[in-house]
Amino acid sequence: AADPGSPYRVVLLGASGVGKTAFASIFAGAADSMDSDDCELCGDEVCEKEIEVDGEPATLTVLDTWDAETDNEWAQERYMQTGDAYLLLYSVTDRSSFVRASELRITLRRFRPAQHTPIILVGNKCDLVRRREVSVSEGRACAAVFDCKFIETSAAMQHNVWEAFHGIVRQLRLRRDSK
Ligand code: GDP
Repeated sequence: AADPGSPYRVVLLGASGVGKTAFASIFAGAADSMDSDDCELCGDEVCEKEIEVDGEPATLTVLDTWDAETDNEWAQERYMQTGDAYLLLYSVTDRSSFVRASELRITLRRFRPAQHTPIILVGNKCDLVRRREVSVSEGRACAAVFDCKFIETSAAMQHNVWEAFHGIVRQLRLRRDSK
């Protein structure tokens, strides 16, 4: 049970500027790593490391290569198919990013049939209270419609970011254990 097994590929998705790079940096940072070395497999856009979740190790490969600006649909569709799990980010300060997250969720469902792929809808930048454009209940309702989990985070305050990654691991394990 202590074997972390093969890495889970976790893909960061979302509009430009919502905080994907900030998420990837927190993941890449040594703070929560079990070895204190910097992550050897970490590049700008891909980082693989072992973390501990509920007392059990898990290896995650986090991909932050989503190009929100590209109109290369083929590349986007390919990218959509690379993950074992997805963090679907929007910014609570940017309603258009919330709409974009819904669109991405719909596209994702075409490639990743719903029940089996862990997806967490992530409302980032919850520290920017005065600039909020999307309420917590809207986020939660959207996640319910799309049948995925929901969490609000602040990468700037390092609030709930690890909870999001841990949540993904828990869902992947549930899926693994029910096989
Ligand atoms: P990406 O385009 O999705 O990769 O977004 P980035 O990670 O580059 O973030 C875009 C901008 O938002 C940067 O200036 C970040 O510093 C800022 N940012 C990211 N997350 C947060 C957050 O939780 N709170 C605040 N206040 N700013 C954030």
